[in-house]
Amino acid sequence: MQLNHTHDPAATSWVTSANAAGCDFPIQNLPLAVFRHYSGADDFRGGVAIGDQVIDLAQVSAADCLDGLAAQAAAACAQPSLNDFFAMGPAAWQALRHGLFALLKSGAEGAQVDALRSCLVPQITVAYTVPARIGDYTDFYTSIHHASNIGKLFRPDDLVTPNFRWLPIAYHGRVSSIGISGQKFRRPLGQVMAPGGSRPDFGPCTRLDYELELGIFIGQGNAHGEQIALDDAEQHVFGICLLNDWSARDIQFWEMAPLGPFLAKNFATTISPWIVTTEALAPYHQAWERPAADPQPLPYLASEHNRAEGALDIQLEVWLETAQQRAQGQAPSRLSHTSFKHQYWTVAQMVAHHTVGGCNLQPGDLLGSGTISGPTPAEAGALIELAEGGRKPVTLANGEQRGFLQDGDAVILKGWCEKPGCARIGFGQSRGEILPALQP
Ligand code: CA
Repeated sequence: MQLNHTHDPAATSWVTSANAAGCDFPIQNLPLAVFRHYSGADDFRGGVAIGDQVIDLAQVSAADCLDGLAAQAAAACAQPSLNDFFAMGPAAWQALRHGLFALLKSGAEGAQVDALRSCLVPQITVAYTVPARIGDYTDFYTSIHHASNIGKLFRPDDLVTPNFRWLPIAYHGRVSSIGISGQKFRRPLGQVMAPGGSRPDFGPCTRLDYELELGIFIGQGNAHGEQIALDDAEQHVFGICLLNDWSARDIQFWEMAPLGPFLAKNFATTISPWIVTTEALAPYHQAWERPAADPQPLPYLASEHNRAEGALDIQLEVWLETAQQRAQGQAPSRLSHTSFKHQYWTVAQMVAHHTVGGCNLQPGDLLGSGTISGPTPAEAGALIELAEGGRKPVTLANGEQRGFLQDGDAVILKGWCEKPGCARIGFGQSRGEILPALQP
């Protein structure tokens, strides 16, 4: 995607909170969410973040702030899910972004700018919901560092399965338990087979974990029986959010063969409310490299464009806030920091592979990137890696230790993009909290 005036790092907004250093939502970002007043007194509708405000797109539509395709796009966002807007395609996504950018930039004036001022809602007064009716959710497994770290724990003779370097591995996940940041869920129950055991035990999971991932929202889909070519994939991706694929490791390792995870993954998945658009992310693409000694991708997963700029440099952090930290007013602890740029497969390759057999993606479908672990141990995207399967618990600043997650723990994911010559843009955060299990 070509850079344009909406990526200009010098651009500022009359919404002055958007110009603060370190702000996640400057005028160059303009991510989308679905929100309402936290009291629940009004209806969910689409919004765009600017600084510490939400632009109410239902109000934008009603107040005629925009014209033409941008106005049609805002109208499509004036409902409790963004699927219709996603289905309008890249021209409409860009029209809305560029229309709002023109009204929000410093020095903008006129009747439509005045009208837009009445469409701002403070973010501290709103609650969010899952921004689309997600038809299908597919979770990938595309970090070779994660695959290798897990392999060392469980398959010392076979670190990475033979298919890993040839295709972006995935399984079909569960939609009903996907929740927005703030989600609280009960520790799952399930079957666990002890090492060397002859019959499984049933009870609450004792090896509860998180997985740091990105969530990729599909914009326009493809017809059943057709494919999305690798170099067209970007036109089908609306944007990206943060995603925590909560994982019950003890349940997972008993149930997973031969068909993949089931109860280990289907009890909760937490996403961040704001979707950072493909256009906003354009400055942060970079070359994607496949080590020369590794298999090179098959033709449908290979292109010059994907090599030149298929990778995305998104900085990511995982934070843990324990019940003790909350109770004693202590700061959460940062567990790891990495970048999505290390991923073995790109977003475009995931989309191309998903559809190569004729599977139709639909507007609002969600793809999980798979756990994002970087090349060093400290960059691991799951606690099972950091704590080496629970054998070397992580020690927090207040002295607490974690081999796996405990009841009352909250896991917070953060993400942002930043580099010289470009505006910093952020993803906000995704927070999920563990409640005690129901007793069997
Ligand atoms: Ca996962």
